[in-house]
Amino acid sequence: ENFHDVDMGEIIMGNITLTRYTRPTPVQKYAIPIIKAKRDLMACAQTGSGKTAAFLLPVTQENGKYVRRKQFPISLVLAPTRELALQIYDEARKFSYRSRVRPCVVYGGADIGQQIRELERGCHLLVATPGRLVDMMERGKIGLDYCKYLVLDEADRMLDMGFEPQIRRIVEQDTMPPKGARQTMMFSATFPKEIQILARDFLEEYIFLAV
Ligand code: AMP
Repeated sequence: ENFHDVDMGEIIMGNITLTRYTRPTPVQKYAIPIIKAKRDLMACAQTGSGKTAAFLLPVTQENGKYVRRKQFPISLVLAPTRELALQIYDEARKFSYRSRVRPCVVYGGADIGQQIRELERGCHLLVATPGRLVDMMERGKIGLDYCKYLVLDEADRMLDMGFEPQIRRIVEQDTMPPKGARQTMMFSATFPKEIQILARDFLEEYIFLAV
């Protein structure tokens, strides 16, 4: 098994080689073809399983097809903490190298003015913690009208941290394309009732994957 089993395009394949990932992990092996087939996904996977690359690789590739003059987020990844957001952003930078996709990251507890200036330089793949993203939306600094790919990473942790109202504000706002008009992927270590409800509300005829 290797990453050549799925067509990821030359740029992404080159970047996989640069990261020295030789074999896909199980979550990558199963999730990447599902995402490439444009299906919504609910994946139960632990930290350390390689779940970040499982969504970033296909999303970055698809994202590249929509980068035109529009400089608004085409992909949005929500994550519970600043640390995780930064890890996802670091990996997104590696995978988007030499592509036209520009990743950005916003999180709480840091200067919002600086983050707004970064966003204004153009952002196609936005990694965000929910509280800071709501703050930016309220200031009119971020539009999600062009968001085609939505990822909720560590969804159970986001709910444990009390982010459900912010997540619903972001996903259920008028300007976010409704389910069916966007592709949504949820990753969670556990699959309790609250996550099942979120999956029912946010996902369209989704595939359930447990690794
Ligand atoms: P994650 O579960 O996404 O936090 O990834 C855990 C760690 O595994 C990270 O340090 C990744 O860089 C690494 N990793 C992800 N996919 C692969 C792979 N296919 N081969 C080797 N390392 C990987």
